[in-house]
Amino acid sequence: MTILRYDDYETSSGRATYDADVVIVGTGAGGAAAGAELAEAGVDVAFVEEGSYHPTSSFNPYATESLPRLFRDAAATMIFGRPPIPYLEGRCVGGSTTVNGGMTWRTPDRILADWERLCGPELGAAAMEPLFERVEKSVNASRQIEASLGEDSRLMEEGARRLGWDYLHTVRSQRNCVGSNNCVLGCPTGAKQSTLVSYIPRAIAAGARCLTEVRVESLLIEGGRCVGVRGASLCPRDRRTRRPVTVRAKAVIVACGATQTPALLLGHKLGRTSGQLGRNFLCHPNAKVLAVYPFDVKAWQGVNQGGQVREFVADGYLFAENFIPPAELAASMPTHGLRAWEIMKDYNRMALTGVLVEDSHAGRVTRGLGGQPVPQYSITPLDHARFLEGIRKLAMLHFEMGAERVYLPFSNLHEVTSADELQKIGATQRSRSTLELFTVHLMGTARMGASASDSVVDLDGQLWDLPGCYVADASLFPTAIGVNPQITIMALATRVAQRLSERVLSKAA
Ligand SMILES: Cc1cc2nc3c(=O)[nH]c(=O)nc-3n(C[C@H](O)[C@H](O)[C@H](O)COP(=O)(O)OP(=O)(O)OC[C@H]3O[C@@H](n4cnc5c(N)ncnc54)[C@H](O)[C@@H]3O)c2cc1C
Ligand code: SF4
Repeated sequence: MTILRYDDYETSSGRATYDADVVIVGTGAGGAAAGAELAEAGVDVAFVEEGSYHPTSSFNPYATESLPRLFRDAAATMIFGRPPIPYLEGRCVGGSTTVNGGMTWRTPDRILADWERLCGPELGAAAMEPLFERVEKSVNASRQIEASLGEDSRLMEEGARRLGWDYLHTVRSQRNCVGSNNCVLGCPTGAKQSTLVSYIPRAIAAGARCLTEVRVESLLIEGGRCVGVRGASLCPRDRRTRRPVTVRAKAVIVACGATQTPALLLGHKLGRTSGQLGRNFLCHPNAKVLAVYPFDVKAWQGVNQGGQVREFVADGYLFAENFIPPAELAASMPTHGLRAWEIMKDYNRMALTGVLVEDSHAGRVTRGLGGQPVPQYSITPLDHARFLEGIRKLAMLHFEMGAERVYLPFSNLHEVTSADELQKIGATQRSRSTLELFTVHLMGTARMGASASDSVVDLDGQLWDLPGCYVADASLFPTAIGVNPQITIMALATRVAQRLSERVLSKAA
């Protein structure tokens, strides 16, 4: 059997044990890309995934059903700081790619130039080019067909054109996307090329196994080498009933995402030389700007992001559309009861957009007493200023396009009905605490580098202080990248897998 579930771990000894060449913890952007590369090179791969396997046919627009099934802690996860920032992480086969928007932007050239300076030519534009090409082919990174774009995208594009701002059409990991706008609760048509429908089936076709509903709790370390993982299966019904599961392997790839990976590794007190494990936590924070138009927009008829306004990238921010299903939108508003109902009645007339700010400073993930990650991050005065300016400009775009009101992400200034009222932002937004942010782009807590003194893993992805243990997920980023990260994660994971497969096949892992 290639996809194992909770009941498959019941054994007469009470302990389920497996062997593989490489065990990969996590099936998201990084883990799945690494696993497919390894399996297709002839390596015996076992994935271990905490979440369940949910096929395309199970996806629907009902948030109360989908959030607990597909997201960690039913999407109620929080970064502590000023302001606190709610974040989302997928917990299912496919990880966050199963619930992401499918945008596929490469790492910008200016960032690759920084990486080359910091880490060497291995992370420069020339070395990364073939990796990007390989990844983009795997997830079919391509432009949306015109008919799949919604009216919200057209408003944003026309608004940018009128204001003379640079607008870029989205490239997405999709095949025949019809624009049904359910990406964040799982794509019900299978068009989005999440790792659930791209890399994981490829890995399985090449012989990989996927142990689902197992949470890895520790690494198996013998004679100073990492030789496997230990964890427990979790009953998907109550998430309490547990059975011990062990996977022994020649090498371990940790790909649990930028919060879970450092928490797991910190449990073994790794990364001491540089002190960088858990540090360099980047989250590309996002502030929502919701416009209501005097006419039907029906933004749910169209892909959730048709494009981005890139005019202000040099100033540290960009604008994106990101329309979402009604229950999720209602839950993200700072209103309750009757007021929330009054606002949501205009769902058909809304366009939801956001300001994404490139991190100018990093936070930290520590390990809590129960082994859970504790992410901490506060925005800097510079980021705060970027948000205020970005929010003002984005709201201006909506008024330019005829919006009748705009909801701003401030707890003390929520609704404005004209461009003139945007002047209130300066006077009312002196504190970071009134800004309402969220994020879905977590990165950078086990940074890759050329020296053990300032990074957690080497340029092959192997921990400097634990042979046999590799990282292949968003944790690897040496610095912030300022754009949606999945292509960069997959490219770095591909690099890690290519290096590791050479070692495993030559028996030198
Ligand atoms: C709602 C949303 C929208 C997004 N939109 C975009 C977008 O449009 N474009 C883009 O580029 N990026 C987007 N992203 C971000 C992108 O999806 C993530 O950056 C990327 O998937 C992270 O890859 P990863 O491999 O680091 O972790 P993940 O993809 O999160 O995978 C980690 C996996 O590890 C598993 N895991 C964690 N801990 C354990 C453990 N101890 N034992 C076993 N398994 C474990 C998790 O269950 C999960 O499946 C979005 C993310 C979200 C949540
Ligand atoms: S818009 Fe609909 S069809 Fe297209 S990727 Fe998203 S969920 Fe799938």
